[in-house]
Amino acid sequence: MPPQPAYKRVLLKVSGEALMGRRDYGLDADTVASIAQDVRDVVTAGTEVCLVIGGGNIFRGVSAAAAGMDRAQGDYMGMLATVMNALAMQNALERRGVPTRVQSAIPMSSVCEPYIRRRAERHMEKGRVVIFAAGTGNPFFTTDTAAALRAAEMNCDALLKGTQVDGVYSADPRKVPDAERYDQLTYLEVLSRDLAVMDAAAISLARENGLPIIVFNIHTPGAFAQVIRGEGRFTTIVEPG
Ligand code: UDP
Repeated sequence: MPPQPAYKRVLLKVSGEALMGRRDYGLDADTVASIAQDVRDVVTAGTEVCLVIGGGNIFRGVSAAAAGMDRAQGDYMGMLATVMNALAMQNALERRGVPTRVQSAIPMSSVCEPYIRRRAERHMEKGRVVIFAAGTGNPFFTTDTAAALRAAEMNCDALLKGTQVDGVYSADPRKVPDAERYDQLTYLEVLSRDLAVMDAAAISLARENGLPIIVFNIHTPGAFAQVIRGEGRFTTIVEPG
C-alpha cells in the first residue's frame, strides 16, 4: 500500500497575483495550467484539497478606494473578480480530469453553487476539489481571511499559502536581497513583526483554531506535492512548543 499522506485535507490559497505569471494584469493560461497540474498531483496522491483564489490580478477594493471609489463598492467588485479566477481554475482542473465545484459566498446561481458548508464537505469526501469564490462575501475583508475561515470551517489539517517566494522573509526578498528567511514562526511572531505574509485577521483566525499555515513558492512546479510530503522549502507558522 502507498504511504498515507501526512495531511488528509488541506486548503490552498492562491493569490490573484500568482495567476498573472509574467503579465501585469489578468490571467496567464500557462500559469493557471501549471497550478492546476500541481493540485491534481496532490489530489491523486490522496489528500483532499479545497482552494481559495484571490482577485488582485483583476481588481482590488483598496486601490479603487484610493482612486476615489466607495470602498465597499470596490470590494464587491473585487469579490466578483475572484469568481472569474475561480472559474478559470475550475476549467483548468477539469481539463485535467479533476472533478470540481465552485461555491461562491455571493450567490450566483447560473454560474456556480452558493457556499453551503455541509455540501462542500460532501463534495470533498467524494474527492472533488471545491473552489471557494467571492472571499467571505463581505467587504473590508481579504481572501486571506476567507482562506483561514474556510479552512477552519472545513476542518482542514493545514492552510497552505502559495506565494511568489519560498517562504516567509523579514522583507520582500525580491526588493531586499539580504532579507532573512524563516523556516518556522509562531503566529505571534508574524503579528508582532508585522510580516507581510497574510493579514492579521487571517493569522488570528488560524491561531484561534490551531490551524498550521504553510507558506511556499507556488511557481515551483511540484512544490505543492512536495510540501504535502514534508519536503522542499517552506515556512511553517504554528503555536510555540
Ligand atoms: N474582497 C472582499 N472581501 C473578501 C475577499 C475579498 O471585499 O472577503 C475584495 C477586496 O476588494 C480585495 C479583492 O476582493 O481587494 C481581491 O481579493 P484579495 O485582495 O484578497 O486578492 P489577492 O491579493 O489574494 O489576489
